[in-house]
Amino acid sequence: MGGFRFLFLSRHGEKGYEKTAPYVNYRANIYAAKSLGVTRIVAWTGPGAISRKYRPGDLVLPDDLLDFTRNRPSTFYEGKGIGFIRQYPVFCERLREALRSVADRGKALRSTAKRVEAGRCHPSAVYACTEGPRLETAAEIRFLARAGADLVGMTLCPEAFLARELEICYAPVAYVTNYAEGVRKMPYRRGALFEGMLPPGEAADVEAAKNAIPGIAIAAALAVAGEERDCPCAVSMERYRKRGAIGPDFRGWVAG
Ligand SMILES: [Zn+2]
Repeated sequence: MGGFRFLFLSRHGEKGYEKTAPYVNYRANIYAAKSLGVTRIVAWTGPGAISRKYRPGDLVLPDDLLDFTRNRPSTFYEGKGIGFIRQYPVFCERLREALRSVADRGKALRSTAKRVEAGRCHPSAVYACTEGPRLETAAEIRFLARAGADLVGMTLCPEAFLARELEICYAPVAYVTNYAEGVRKMPYRRGALFEGMLPPGEAADVEAAKNAIPGIAIAAALAVAGEERDCPCAVSMERYRKRGAIGPDFRGWVAG
């Protein structure tokens, strides 16, 4: 678009929903992106709402993570003396700022504008990442709420951390897909999506929020495309380079 190249990767499969979150090969995806020259990633995710501030169909720009994943390879640097990387800010602030400014202007898509007018595009949230594929119990959601989580999903960890390990900027856009367990009284509905965790009247809102994301992501990417990166993500491995532990080519950081 306009001489700028975008790449799209569908985490859960090329043709459809073939893999649940715990079985996505996050390392392969991030490595592939890096190999193709990607410097910035806008990640897309559909979490459930824990905090009452958020409801299905809202767009959210999370700003922090709680990692409760258990069985996923979570680093490129297994068995090595590198990778001790600060996680503040956990997402690229420059990319978040660009996403926020697009959402605020409401230019990406009409549905985004409506959402912003209605105060339904949130600039921050703590996203808790669980292992899955099962959904959480009501007790787990109460625990996550006390731990400070606003949203719960299964996809951003370790993806965000892996991007940081390869010095790629990374920021998520979330569209809230359902209420987390126990947040509202929701009867079990046989055969329905999440067995009833999304009230029937709210599915259209969720669809509209989801459809707004590509426009937001592309507009934000275009806004920062020409900029030299001046953020911690771009130099997360700098001290290892300085002391000669790694060379300039990232393939050497990961190999062996
Ligand atoms: Zn960055």
